[in-house]
Amino acid sequence: YFSSTTLAYIDGDFIKADGAQSTLYSQSLHYGYAVFEGIRAYNTPQGPRVFKAREHYERLHYSCQAIGLPLHQSVAELTGITYQLLERNGLQDAYIRPLVFAAEPHMGLTTPASSSLFMAAWAWGKYLGDKSLRLLVSPYQRPNPKAVPLEAKVAGHYVNSIIASSHAKAQGYDEALLLDGEGFVAEGPGANFFFEKGGELYTAPAGSILRGITRNTIVELAREAGIRVREEFFTPDALKEATGAFMTGTAVEVVGVASVNEQQFSKPFSETLGGYIAERYQALVRGGDLAEKMPFRKTA
Ligand code: PMP
Repeated sequence: YFSSTTLAYIDGDFIKADGAQSTLYSQSLHYGYAVFEGIRAYNTPQGPRVFKAREHYERLHYSCQAIGLPLHQSVAELTGITYQLLERNGLQDAYIRPLVFAAEPHMGLTTPASSSLFMAAWAWGKYLGDKSLRLLVSPYQRPNPKAVPLEAKVAGHYVNSIIASSHAKAQGYDEALLLDGEGFVAEGPGANFFFEKGGELYTAPAGSILRGITRNTIVELAREAGIRVREEFFTPDALKEATGAFMTGTAVEVVGVASVNEQQFSKPFSETLGGYIAERYQALVRGGDLAEKMPFRKTA
């Protein structure tokens, strides 16, 4: 994530990442009371561009507000800091991690008066690689959306993600697929889930998911291509009739799913609607004309 020359941003300064420090007496460390984002920049014909910067920083503001954590920088300021961070580190294709946390010593269970903003960036390939994934329906459910604001990207929510993902990997799978409290498919530990049936795409509606910015982009790309996207509740049983599936997220981008609980989808990912949309997504994030010029190739 960093070398001896990497610079990170903290509260107005760019400092050497390997010297960055924080107190051990914070609510963020003890209670998971922090908020973060996962953003990517791509090298485009016009130079490095932060993909969907406004959407990510609006979500950061929403997340902070949802848990009562102050955030002192505007969306425009946050975007400016991001471009500076990329430039100072000579990064073009990069993953960017802003973190808003309680930095003052405070052990009580009341909201803090102030917060700190940390931002780091590093070169990071597709988080789950390129190969289609073997998923396991996790015995760990998504957290109850009536107990925590699940649409906020809160650090503590990711304890659920870490245990579900580690469990699936320990069983020999690539990643977990989590259900909500009612038994409907929700999402992965760090990505949304779509499946394909009868030439249409299906994905879980708002409720027990983080409505990903990539998910929104995929819905738009699909609709532009005349592919219907149904946001509906479905159980793992519905996947028996699916011909393909994929996961979406800033870190994973668009990655195919080969099987769920050993049940394989009939088509290879590259021949599914998801495979087509994954190509469109790459063209879009890398900018320029390619996205417009790519001919529509409906495969189902
Ligand atoms: N769900 C969860 C739980 C996530 O952590 C992420 C990654 N932020 C996503 C979905 C995908 O969101 P996005 O497309 O905004 O990265």
